[in-house]
Amino acid sequence: MPKKYVFDFDEADYRNKRLFGGKGASLVQMAQLGLRVPPGFIITTEACKDFFGPKREEIAELEAQLARQPPPDVRDALITKLFSIIDSLDLPQGLWEEVVEHMKRLEDRTGRRFGDPKNPLLVSVRSGAAVSMPGMMDTVLNLGLNDETVKGLAEQTNNEWFAYDAYRRFINMFGRIVLNIDDKLFSKAWDDIKRKYGVKEDPQMPIEGLKEAVEIFKKIVAESRGAFPQDPWEQLKLAIKAVFRSWDSPRAIFYRIAEKITSDIADCTAVNVVTMVFGNMGWDSGTGVVFSRDVATGENRLYGEFLPVAQGEDVVAGIRTPMDIDEFKKRFPHLYEELYNGVKLLEKVNKDVQDVEFTVERGRLYFLQCRNAKMTPMARVKTAVDMAKEGIITKDEALMKVSPEHVLQLLYPRIDPKANARPIAKGLPASPGAVSGQLVFNPDDAVKWARDGKKVVLARVETKPDDVHGFYAAVGILTTRGGMTSHAAVVARAIGKPAVVGAEDAVVDEQNKVLRAGGLILKEGDWVTIDGNTGLVYPGVVPTLEPELIPELEELLRWADEVRRLGVRANADLPEDAAIARKFGAEGIGLLRIERMFRKPERLDLLRRIILAENREERIKHLEQLYRMLKEDFKAIFEIMDGLPVVVRLIDPPLHEFLPKPEEVLQQICEGRMSGKDVSSLERLYNRLKALQEANPMLGHRGVRVGVSYPEVYYYLTKAIAEAASELKKEGRNPVVEIMIPQVSDVREIKYVKEKGIMPALRDVEESSGVKLDIKIGTMIETVRAALTVEKIAREVDFISFGTNDLTQAVFSFSRDDAENKFIPQYLDLKILDADPFETLDPEGVAKLVEQASRSAKEANPAIEVGVCGEHGGEPKSISLFSRMKIDYVSASPFRVPLARLAAAQAAIASSKRE
Ligand code: PEP
Ligand code: MG
Repeated sequence: MPKKYVFDFDEADYRNKRLFGGKGASLVQMAQLGLRVPPGFIITTEACKDFFGPKREEIAELEAQLARQPPPDVRDALITKLFSIIDSLDLPQGLWEEVVEHMKRLEDRTGRRFGDPKNPLLVSVRSGAAVSMPGMMDTVLNLGLNDETVKGLAEQTNNEWFAYDAYRRFINMFGRIVLNIDDKLFSKAWDDIKRKYGVKEDPQMPIEGLKEAVEIFKKIVAESRGAFPQDPWEQLKLAIKAVFRSWDSPRAIFYRIAEKITSDIADCTAVNVVTMVFGNMGWDSGTGVVFSRDVATGENRLYGEFLPVAQGEDVVAGIRTPMDIDEFKKRFPHLYEELYNGVKLLEKVNKDVQDVEFTVERGRLYFLQCRNAKMTPMARVKTAVDMAKEGIITKDEALMKVSPEHVLQLLYPRIDPKANARPIAKGLPASPGAVSGQLVFNPDDAVKWARDGKKVVLARVETKPDDVHGFYAAVGILTTRGGMTSHAAVVARAIGKPAVVGAEDAVVDEQNKVLRAGGLILKEGDWVTIDGNTGLVYPGVVPTLEPELIPELEELLRWADEVRRLGVRANADLPEDAAIARKFGAEGIGLLRIERMFRKPERLDLLRRIILAENREERIKHLEQLYRMLKEDFKAIFEIMDGLPVVVRLIDPPLHEFLPKPEEVLQQICEGRMSGKDVSSLERLYNRLKALQEANPMLGHRGVRVGVSYPEVYYYLTKAIAEAASELKKEGRNPVVEIMIPQVSDVREIKYVKEKGIMPALRDVEESSGVKLDIKIGTMIETVRAALTVEKIAREVDFISFGTNDLTQAVFSFSRDDAENKFIPQYLDLKILDADPFETLDPEGVAKLVEQASRSAKEANPAIEVGVCGEHGGEPKSISLFSRMKIDYVSASPFRVPLARLAAAQAAIASSKRE
């Protein structure tokens, strides 16, 4: 039996988005819920897959080449080749017959005939993949119009103006999308006609102008591609193929890669053939987009735009500025009520904020599409929390709705009000965050400049879906036209880029690459700051402020804390970082890298003397001074973290990192000799540096090995820590201190430094202060040998913490300092690696070692505490892996603490669902 490719709305299953696409599924759902939807049918994604089938491999190869973002000329040649292959394909067998049969059914249901000169049926042919790819694929409206049916439409509706408006739109759209004719030819002709008739806004065009446009547009088509097809069936067939083809438009390919939409998530597009309803029939008609809540702030009120006398594409293209939904409510209260009820019903059944497209045709409301809304991170968090409180979703569902990236984005900087910066323009705050960048005026330049390492703000009059590669390259987006639902706004929100749109008091001159605003002229390369929280635009670089947690996020994270199993601490080395960590909910410090405390010049100098000292006495003299300085910083941090654990790691990096380069000293010696100076101390320094030099410092004299060579170093560092703690205890505070030994590979190293350095210091401080200290001693597990011999180690310590940065380096034998900018990008490209292992924990190798080691450690010492303090502790996928192992806590950089709290909760919810 041949495959069934075509389904009416009443016979499809709306839950099957993979087969029917998101848009198709939503039409089915709305129809089945009793909302008014124009009749239509869906051609499944399976049909599209079978359409590409015969050339799938060739197409995949070209897609892969396009994905590498070649220069524009190569890109254009690849697109031409790709499209000519696709255009040579036929519809899969049996599909057309099914389409014809369903068109007949549509004719019966509507009482109109396709191609009938008296009472014509018109349809839209719309794309729609399993996941929403806003504006990335194509749609054709008003299909079925020709020189005869246009007259029928005029008669039937008693509205000649409307019929010709629809016809000129159709020829333009068909020419651009189906026949691939450059849209500039049409828009230039349209602008010329507008000028000729002295018309500013499209609805003012007289009927003669529309008829003239029809003739001119047909001529444009004829000159590029031969006569405009008058047969509606031919139009339909070509349009279906074009919508299939648009799955492989460069922007769609690029979007899928950027958003990681792989074929297991969405494979090919469905095609929705839907009876046309007309928003351009007059002032009681129009088209709009509405969200069930405010997608900028999350407030619970309908939010959206309505454009009278218009068709769908006018709203998203941002060509005319629409009225807001409050105005719509005033003008059409009954329609508003119907819309409100429909949208809220959809929100309830779909358990998420809805983004609904609708059209009003002569006072009758039609629902054309619904989907889960894309919104700002702030709105995402607020709506999730509110919907849980309203009982629409559970707390767990609310937690699963907010992505860890949303949380990171919510911690975007704000403009510092104290900077008193004067804005030069104001637009709509379409996507939050304040950023500064250098101005560029087209997407290709954005990509080029970004490749050169520059931060750019892309300024456009309005954006088209084809600009999307520029969005990814830019740090922010600015447009002078369009509303909150314009393409620029939707995409910027979706990919989390700050954006200001519709800044109408500014002028972007794309040709001459200048921005005129507030009496200033800014050229390409000039710096601007845009604030996507307020919609303001500033010249130059404006200082920004550190973010705060909004109350809704605090609430959501409290819910996260109730369900997560994994503890969350922070990696912090300075009092400022510790304060941020505590504010963001860290349950302690999981890693304080002591060496970062040597950043101050006087301390670095002392440390150098310690390293270069030629005997123990000399070293101790300098250590005495250093420990006093460090003690004060420890006190400050322990005080901030009062009552919460702070893991202080003894000095770790290779010693050469703190020393001058031997070549530099040699140069000074030569210069000194030439000018007759005494260079003997420089020579001593040089000899010492040469003696300390190592071929592989990363694998050299570092970490615990330094503690073994110079136990007095560990003694004094411990003394600084212990005295800080004992002094605070005397002041009535509650410091909870843990000392960690790095780079261990054998338990005997731990025993040795404990005996020779750490324990004597603790004893001495306890004795001299009379304060009983309860300091835990632990070690990093960051060498392979430590992981493999963890049973012995576990019996010797109170805690272990996996240093997954070094462990990844050791397990792969990849240098963590070099691999990421040498060969890892190529490995990712060639799919030798699925992800950068320094970013996401390698699930097959490193994770296995961590899991085995943590289990063995707990078996050997059930009281042991197990943490992770590598960068992976702040990365959601890795957190999910850690949550499943016997790990007690992760430690992440302070700004990632909120994200880690949420990711840990999501991992717990996901695993409780699996159980
Ligand atoms: C690690 O190796 O994972 C770690 C936390 O230590 P560092 O990054 O300081 O080497
Ligand atoms: Mg390390």
